[in-house]
Amino acid sequence: MEHSDYDVVVVGAGLVGAGVAAALAGTALSIAIVERAPPPPESPAWDTRIYAISPASVRFLESVGVWQALDPARIQPVRRMDVSGDAGSRVVFSAYDAGVAALAHIVESGAIQRALWRRVGAQENAVLVCPARCASLERDGKRWRLGLEDGRSLSAGLVVGADGRDSWVRGHAGIGATLEPYGDSGVVANFATERGHDGTAFQWFRADGILAYLPLPGNNVSVVWSTPEAHARELTALDPDAFAARVAAAGNERLGRLTPLTPAAAFPLAVMEVEHLAVNGLALVGDAAHAVHPLAGQGVNLGFGDARVLAALVREREIFRAPGDPAVMRRYERARREDILAMRLVTHGLQRLFSLPGRLPAAVRNLGLNFTDEVGVLKNLLIRQALG
Ligand SMILES: Cc1cc2nc3c(=O)[nH]c(=O)nc-3n(C[C@H](O)[C@H](O)[C@H](O)COP(=O)(O)OP(=O)(O)OC[C@H]3O[C@@H](n4cnc5c(N)ncnc54)[C@H](O)[C@@H]3O)c2cc1C
Repeated sequence: MEHSDYDVVVVGAGLVGAGVAAALAGTALSIAIVERAPPPPESPAWDTRIYAISPASVRFLESVGVWQALDPARIQPVRRMDVSGDAGSRVVFSAYDAGVAALAHIVESGAIQRALWRRVGAQENAVLVCPARCASLERDGKRWRLGLEDGRSLSAGLVVGADGRDSWVRGHAGIGATLEPYGDSGVVANFATERGHDGTAFQWFRADGILAYLPLPGNNVSVVWSTPEAHARELTALDPDAFAARVAAAGNERLGRLTPLTPAAAFPLAVMEVEHLAVNGLALVGDAAHAVHPLAGQGVNLGFGDARVLAALVREREIFRAPGDPAVMRRYERARREDILAMRLVTHGLQRLFSLPGRLPAAVRNLGLNFTDEVGVLKNLLIRQALG
């Protein structure tokens, strides 16, 4: 049976796991990244998974040499956010008001993951173990021993669980998680639009959920409609043209007629909290560590924050070659708790406020939006939160 020793084993080479490995490039630490499947291949069609990458995440991706490697023709800067309540109120945030070039950048998930993989693949201190599935995880003195289904085993002083919301690592490390389903699904699809979006991201807080149009290069948008599961099933069962007409009507025809580019897909939405972000020599990052409502489009940004902070703490102790040191784990837990909690409270609170039926909640939330538009300081605070 083949066995290898590493300083760090990362399980999951999604955006966040690959981000941790890339952020440890150039160190003396040896890293293995275990992943069950490679990223989707390049395609001229737009990915259905599109992220609003915050300026803080852009800086992180720049620091690991990945942002520069992305094709600029497939990146759309967001210059304005136009948010409407369900009784006619509206708030507009602009990059100009916030004194930045863009509030966020819309990028395809696959493009970032492929660029991260190329980066990690060229990294001298890292190996990608793919395809591979985990079979066992045991504590062995001060190290972890990870067994793979094909009989290989790897040991490390630090295991990073970056294996998504249903994290195998989290379960096998005995870290509890509470998953509270919203009873909503996110329905996603891409469309060509009749009118130009001018770099504006639109969001409508509606009685039947939250609808977002994220601008893509050209006259194209990526749509996320977070809506009760029964409604999501009804929407995904429609033929593509009928679905496009529903999405256009729900967005008040703001960009005119919509032409479908991809079929609609639905994902169940839930908020998830974990008991610990780190235990003895094991840290959770990305969706393995938290799930928030996609209404703020911050899931992957929180994950990049985890990757940046964990890698920085590990780098500080590089000379000791003890990346899973209890002090590193404690500092990671402390550093990330607050950011994750703040994001959960904001997204959860907004989601709850906008899902309450009745005229009074509708009046309150619309008053809230108009108030926000008039109070510059508050608006700027919200923008700062979005900018990370
Ligand atoms: C509808 C919807 C819209 C969203 N929109 C946005 C948005 O606009 N902006 C945003 O920031 N976020 C958004 N998110 C959230 C975003 O998708 C996640 O936060 C992000 O993908 C998390 O990345 P990750 O690397 O932590 O996990 P994942 O992307 O889940 O990656 C986990 C990786 O681990 C691998 N893996 C899993 N188990 C194992 C195992 N046992 N062994 C080996 N490998 C394993 C998987 O193959 C995968 O590659 C959205 C989510 C949804 C559902």
